[in-house]
Amino acid sequence: MFCENSKHRLNERSDLVTRRGTRNQPPPRTRIMTTTTPVKIDITQVYDAYSGRPGCACGCRGKHTYASQHQNYASENRGYEVTDEEVNDKTVKLLVDKVQAFLDAGEKPGIEIDICEPNYIAVEIEDRRLYVIYLVH
Ligand SMILES: [Zn+2]
Repeated sequence: MFCENSKHRLNERSDLVTRRGTRNQPPPRTRIMTTTTPVKIDITQVYDAYSGRPGCACGCRGKHTYASQHQNYASENRGYEVTDEEVNDKTVKLLVDKVQAFLDAGEKPGIEIDICEPNYIAVEIEDRRLYVIYLVH
């Protein structure tokens, strides 16, 4: 499931889950959203917003947009520089608002919500669209 075309493997979702686990600290659990557990995305904690087709979130099927205030963090996190061209706070906010709307509405057929705090919040729509909001931690 890794993208062979990219060195940006760390943003592939399943890899994100496993790489956070260590011997002393198990990987965070993904929990499924229900309407009884409201989650509010804190936009000040968002460093990367992804929009693309499901299957791989490295960037080969969509686009990562980075928040200006966490540009350095994002560069360190992925291992090479996040350039100014990849930064757009407006787009980040737009995607956060979009994902927040899905969180507020809750899971329903065709809408899959993965909340893996504090790492990311993902929404997949009918195998066609994947949004991932990555959080600093
Ligand atoms: Zn890929």
